[in-house]
Amino acid sequence: MKKDFTPTLLDLGPLQIYLARHFGFCYGVENAIEIAFRTVDENPGKRIFLLSEMIHNPQVNADLRSHGVQFMQDNYGKQIISFDTLTADDIVIIPAFGTTLELETKLNKIGIQTEKYDTTCPFVEKVWNRSEQIAKKNYTVIIHGKPKHEETRATFSHAAFFAPAVILKDMEQAIELAKYIKGEEPPAQFYEEFKGQYSDDFSVTNDLQRIGVVNQTTMLASDTQAIADYLKQVMIEKYKLATATVEERFADTRDTLCYATLENQQAVSGMLQTDADLAIIIGGYNSSNTSHLVELCEEKLPTYFISSEEKIVSAREILHYNFYIKEETLTSDYLPGKKPVKILITSGASCPDALVEGVINKLVSFFPVKITTEELIEQFA
Ligand code: SF4
Repeated sequence: MKKDFTPTLLDLGPLQIYLARHFGFCYGVENAIEIAFRTVDENPGKRIFLLSEMIHNPQVNADLRSHGVQFMQDNYGKQIISFDTLTADDIVIIPAFGTTLELETKLNKIGIQTEKYDTTCPFVEKVWNRSEQIAKKNYTVIIHGKPKHEETRATFSHAAFFAPAVILKDMEQAIELAKYIKGEEPPAQFYEEFKGQYSDDFSVTNDLQRIGVVNQTTMLASDTQAIADYLKQVMIEKYKLATATVEERFADTRDTLCYATLENQQAVSGMLQTDADLAIIIGGYNSSNTSHLVELCEEKLPTYFISSEEKIVSAREILHYNFYIKEETLTSDYLPGKKPVKILITSGASCPDALVEGVINKLVSFFPVKITTEELIEQFA
């Protein structure tokens, strides 16, 4: 492992690929996939369900489906298979991003042992533990995350069990929340503005006096940090706090991003120091961590978010995902005419490395590359 975050250059002559220092599968995803396939192997003849997509990658999920695993909900909690059809004999696997306490209780009541097939990532559990710790010290838990994302819903459910909780999707919402902290907006308006994002019986007047920020583990590190710093400052000004007394109102929780998210994001920042022509990011279109890698790259150069090599239609055209409009877009002339063409490549935490290899091979096929794979590998021996 290199200690810096400079990318690895695959020098193929007319094509130069810069591969991010860290990319692809994280511990949590590998662990979840391993448990899921082991469950299939160890339980022939049993009905096996997954609460929702195992991870946000279509290939991995299709693979699980082909082994007979059925998905109970889509990514937004919409039911595909009714819970009424479940019996105590069935197996239900909890995905890597965890689930809500309500759902867990529901399954346990049916007689399903959720703890045996729980693939919740330890880094997600770490956030839950952190939320519990600050909740027990009477801080309200502010969760920076996508309100509909399974992991955020799960974290919200665990936090709300112990304390009041609010989900903030971005800095804009943090600024809005600050207005209620400072008493600049009528409390009644909060309930409309943050509909579906606060815990039961939330009191704007009482529950915004002591706060701590945790996040969905795959958010952009810099965004979470900015939101936490901003809210901390709001509390300092509102309550006239000194450095020694900040903790009276604001809990220090800065370490709730998972290592993989952080390393993949740092590796992209390192990769972006390279003067390249374009970037290709590979991952599932509903993957939160992958979309943040795309955001980082598109600030600097033309960036194409694709799910596999099949999206590279030809040397002229690429079909890539635009997550702002949630649609694929066909772009022509994405490869510049100059030589060498320099391309940055990385992938999200739920993307198998085989997909990255597929993309590299497809790109290589468009260029008169003389070096063989063996010769290339030798450069790293
Ligand atoms: S991205 Fe992080 S929190 Fe999510 S599954 Fe991977 S290691 Fe766990």
